[in-house]
Amino acid sequence: MTNGDFDALVLEEAPESPVASVRRLRPEDLPAGDVLVRVSHSGLNYKDAMILKGLGRLVRRYPHVPGIDLAGTVVGSDDGRFRPGDAVLLTGWRVGETHWGGYAQLARVRGDWLIPLPEGLTPRTAMAIGTAGFTAMLAVQALEEHGLEPGDGEVLVTGASGGLGGIAVALLARLGHTVAAVTGRPENAGYLKALGASRIVDRSEFAAPPAKPLLSERWAACVDAVGGDPLAHLLAEMRYGSSVAACGLAAGTALQTTMLPFLLRGVNLLGIDSVMCPRDIRIAAWNRLTSLLPSEVLDAITTEIGLDRAVEHAERLLAGQIRGRIVVTP
Ligand code: NDP
Repeated sequence: MTNGDFDALVLEEAPESPVASVRRLRPEDLPAGDVLVRVSHSGLNYKDAMILKGLGRLVRRYPHVPGIDLAGTVVGSDDGRFRPGDAVLLTGWRVGETHWGGYAQLARVRGDWLIPLPEGLTPRTAMAIGTAGFTAMLAVQALEEHGLEPGDGEVLVTGASGGLGGIAVALLARLGHTVAAVTGRPENAGYLKALGASRIVDRSEFAAPPAKPLLSERWAACVDAVGGDPLAHLLAEMRYGSSVAACGLAAGTALQTTMLPFLLRGVNLLGIDSVMCPRDIRIAAWNRLTSLLPSEVLDAITTEIGLDRAVEHAERLLAGQIRGRIVVTP
């Protein structure tokens, strides 16, 4: 960065999918906000991949700088809570969608969206967790609030080779739960067992809606990263009074189920949203993530890339070919 100029990945609108290029920008190009952050790390989440490929109409105004999460150091602030030199992190608030995001060496954001980087995390480990890991923590906490305790039985995690799923496996195992990890990639069995899964379940078991509205009761709880038919199927296998934390839609947005798991087995379907999550809950969840996830676990699941490789990795992520978390270094 010289004369304040900085690198950013800029998306321009195009007929099929947006065109991305790394460009030099000036601080004056940035949107309004009260804190200027030198971004050292961002992440590649499922939503970033959708934005990079122009899916879901998440971005309405171009040119656009993507990146739904970021970590770095404050370089200027009109918000009394933040001073130059402070280490900070940001996830959600539709940053990277309606506001320019973390795929740039500088970001201007609202102080309300930032939280101090918890002691014990580096910007890199914070983004190795990122939006996906933060959401996994919210999901596990929702299951706990609905009564899940260690020893209750097998907790199912779908999309386990992905970012959210892998961190959910690690968190649940560290909290003393028995984890069954669902994956469509049996070659990742060793990786998932190292994260703490006790058993690997083939994704094909959940590929179609259930043949009957209720199947044998199997699971004490579930963190679901995929939605669609797999969610419809596993709802029919949940134990009496258990809960499913519905986090994602990698297998589809539609849910065709019946009322029977809810009415006859008291199953709870818990919606998980990380984007508008209130600040006090964020800070508590990040502190818990910091104490539960050692840097060796995060290193084992993380691949680091530069801005120039974001689009290629987004394509692979949407094709279900990425394992763990991708950290982006602008
Ligand atoms: P990843 O792409 O890293 O993980 C998704 C995983 O789902 C894949 O690795 C794969 O795991 C599995 N999968 C992919 N396609 C299919 C399919 N067609 N059918 C069944 N399983 C499939 O994404 P993230 O971990 O970043 O995000 C996961 C989901 O959570 C996304 O839908 C995302 O939008 C959502 N999300 C929601 C948030 C919220 O606030 N609610 C915040 C963050 C993420 P495997 O190969 O092991 O089967």
